Amino acid sequence: MKITNPATGALLKEIPCDDEGSLAVKFKKAQRAQKAWALLPLSQRQKAIRNFRELLVSQKERLSQLLTSEVGKPITQARGELGGTLGRLDYFLDNVEQVLRPQEVFRDGKMVEQISQEPLGVIANISVWNYPYFVGTNVFIPALLTGNAVLYKPSEFAALTGLAIAELLHEAGVPPEVFVPIMGDGKVGAQLLELPVKGVFFTGSRATGAKIAQLASRRFIKMQLELGGKDPVYVSEDVDVAAVAASTADGAFYNTGQGCCSVERLYVHEKIYTQFVDEFLKTVRGLKSGDPTQDDVYIGPLTRAPQIEVLEKQVADAIEQGAKLLCGGKRQGSSGQYFEPTVLTHVHHRMEVMREESFGPIIGIQKVSGDSEAIALMNDTTYGLTAGVYTRNEDRARSILEAVNAGSAYWNCCDRVSPRLPWTGRGDSGIGSTLSVLGMQAFVQPKAWHLRSP
Ligand code: NAD
Repeated sequence: MKITNPATGALLKEIPCDDEGSLAVKFKKAQRAQKAWALLPLSQRQKAIRNFRELLVSQKERLSQLLTSEVGKPITQARGELGGTLGRLDYFLDNVEQVLRPQEVFRDGKMVEQISQEPLGVIANISVWNYPYFVGTNVFIPALLTGNAVLYKPSEFAALTGLAIAELLHEAGVPPEVFVPIMGDGKVGAQLLELPVKGVFFTGSRATGAKIAQLASRRFIKMQLELGGKDPVYVSEDVDVAAVAASTADGAFYNTGQGCCSVERLYVHEKIYTQFVDEFLKTVRGLKSGDPTQDDVYIGPLTRAPQIEVLEKQVADAIEQGAKLLCGGKRQGSSGQYFEPTVLTHVHHRMEVMREESFGPIIGIQKVSGDSEAIALMNDTTYGLTAGVYTRNEDRARSILEAVNAGSAYWNCCDRVSPRLPWTGRGDSGIGSTLSVLGMQAFVQPKAWHLRSP
């Protein structure tokens, strides 16, 4: 597998891929090793993850540079992802004990009823490239802490980061047979699911999610799918327009727009629409594109080259149907996988840019007459990951967000994830939750104990 730098096209490394033979061997070893791992006292598994945390801290700069080189993430954002991962690890370390704690739910005379929690066994974690530390650790850290073995397939676009994570976990004390990197593209991912794993935890596109669901359903294994989004934000008329324009532009263009919870659709109240668009454009024109290794660069290259064509098609379709292109709209420069930050107005819901996930530096802004039109448009989607509202009035925000079908609701913020809250999609955005205690419970299965003393 050839790993290239999306900013320059340079070959970074060539690495060997797994195949059916190597997968079978790795699985057998993991099956044996998982049992011993699960039998260790929790404190020992916690110690290994604490060591991993220390290694992330001490090697933060090297790991950030590596992430930037293969994914094209601007370096300050790569450092931000590494830093943010630490808080998630702390949350998992602090809360795993309560997830595993057995519960007595009934006692009467000689009869006792208890619930205990057991790991699933060997699970598959098929992951993505846009936030490899965030979406990776959301799965494999609670999985490991609760006693599972993980066959971890990083995306082929973040393979070197995946290998670095594996090396650090092994150095930290997680046995190599318990956290096992699986290298390759989608074909290898599909082969991985031919193994009798006890669960599949997937982050990626809706299209691949549908294939994974078919493969997983044959053996009734635990399945979680964290898929795409077409995340809307509504800006009401009572806000500080410049501040909200800056906040939502950041939500739309951070990580070069390649976030599952990036703002993908903006609905703006007609009373402030013109002023908002002016302020938004001002912010976007100030975002610096270029070499992602530079500290002042905010927009990097797209990680996957084919996405440029997806964006070009969305722009062409929108313009053909009457949209106004205020900035950007095309590939940038002659080298690297760059696309200009793009703002479209006069958009509507027959345009792809308002219906299909863009996953790039592009946004459509639509004028609305008020809350009920905004709610109807926000719900006019097959996705349901996040939705946001900007207004000074909390009651108004709550009642709008209650009416919107999305897993996360943002008031005066956007593009935000918290380890304390479940990360969960509805509809085409997926099934199940990661993060929070709920998300950690995904990696254990209950056993119901009916105990009668003689
Ligand atoms: P993708 O679906 O193409 O790839 C994701 C992973 O699946 C990769 O590891 C890939 O090798 C593997 N894969 C591909 N085909 C497979 C198959 N047939 N069987 C098994 N594995 C297979 O995803 P992408 O386009 O590279 O990533 C972007 C998508 O991920 C976007 O839709 C984005 O919204 C989504 N995403 C969602 C979340 C979330 O938390 N909901 C987070 C990050 C990204």
